[in-house]
Amino acid sequence: MLMSQDRPLGDPLITPENQAFFESTAQGKLLLRHCKACGKNHYFPRNICPLCGSDDTEWLEAGKGGTATGEIYSYSVLRKGVEIPYCLAYVNLPEGVSMMTNIVDCDLDSVRIGQKVQVCFKPSAKGTMIPMFKPVA
Ligand SMILES: [Zn+2]
Repeated sequence: MLMSQDRPLGDPLITPENQAFFESTAQGKLLLRHCKACGKNHYFPRNICPLCGSDDTEWLEAGKGGTATGEIYSYSVLRKGVEIPYCLAYVNLPEGVSMMTNIVDCDLDSVRIGQKVQVCFKPSAKGTMIPMFKPVA
């Protein structure tokens, strides 16, 4: 059994483009970006849709007012060459986006592909809340 431990997280660079995203994570909300031109959502949120190039995009809260959930698509537990082992994963959300993230607050040996997970937030060194995922209880 290898329990996940909190580890030091780098501070994201806050820009005008991502400021609303990190203001929302501070309130426990995960924002995606919806493109009104192609109808698709993307992550990490950008003003210009990476799928079609349109700038007709708007914020979309994942989980629609509840807790954002997803499913582990792939993962890797990093043990060697890191001070604190952690799980790097791709999580697919029902909103149609895939997030590169960490799986936390669990036994890292129990992580499985297809596992249901829910968003949680961990502070960076300066206190910016970073979205991560933990198994659904
Ligand atoms: Zn688009």
